[in-house]
Amino acid sequence: MKTYIVGNWKLNFTVGESSIYLHKLLKALPVYRGMEIIVAPSTIALQPLSLQVDRRKIKLATQNGFYRDYGAFTGETSFTQLRGIVDYAIIGHSERRYIFGEDEKFIQKKVAAAIRNKITPILCIGETESERAFGETADVIRDQLTSGLSQVGDDDLDKIIIAYEPVWAISSVKSAKLATPDEVTDVVKLIRGTLKELYGGKIAEGVPVLFGGSVGPSNAGSYLTVPGVNGLLVGGASLILGEFVDIIEVAKRVRA
Ligand code: PEP
Repeated sequence: MKTYIVGNWKLNFTVGESSIYLHKLLKALPVYRGMEIIVAPSTIALQPLSLQVDRRKIKLATQNGFYRDYGAFTGETSFTQLRGIVDYAIIGHSERRYIFGEDEKFIQKKVAAAIRNKITPILCIGETESERAFGETADVIRDQLTSGLSQVGDDDLDKIIIAYEPVWAISSVKSAKLATPDEVTDVVKLIRGTLKELYGGKIAEGVPVLFGGSVGPSNAGSYLTVPGVNGLLVGGASLILGEFVDIIEVAKRVRA
């Protein structure tokens, strides 16, 4: 399986800055055939960047998309409109769940809409600090996974990526803590076990599972060596070109 390194730029960079970053990143990277490097700029930058990108080196992801294709939905951008511009979509990110109030029903419809439009969802799941403190991590992970995939049939599971992102480990969260590789191991085991229950072992084994939460060049290797982890979702560190390139280099070394 490929190793996935995803940079989520969130609400950062103008279109011009995004273009300059992409230009430099393309220059810094050779074609790594065993790796899938993905960046998720703001929606407004996606179309111009799609004309600039070299898809052998880097793929584009949208940070959002609406589940209806067209209609009276002021301010939305649909996956139908994003089709052909991006290859991936980040869905279910904790900032969308907790700042924008996206619930499980909304998220499962987005997952289905992305797949319908030939865009691979990167479905983010993860417990909050208090859910972990109350011993609810396993229930939350199982529920978010089962619900997020509820409209995904066996035939479409090969078009899905799961990202485990404990909310308490995300760098922008107040008093964020680093997840230990052991903590990640336990949850990734649970994710893989749940996928197996839902779809059977053979299909489930092919699903990439990523980790995200304050990943930087110095800890990327420790997360990439967790059994069952196939890549990283990087927020803050992906905004600094040198750090993002260093993470990619670590991944190349660790997974070689
Ligand atoms: C994220 O928000 O998806 C994320 C992983 O952020 P950070 O790397 O900054 O913790």
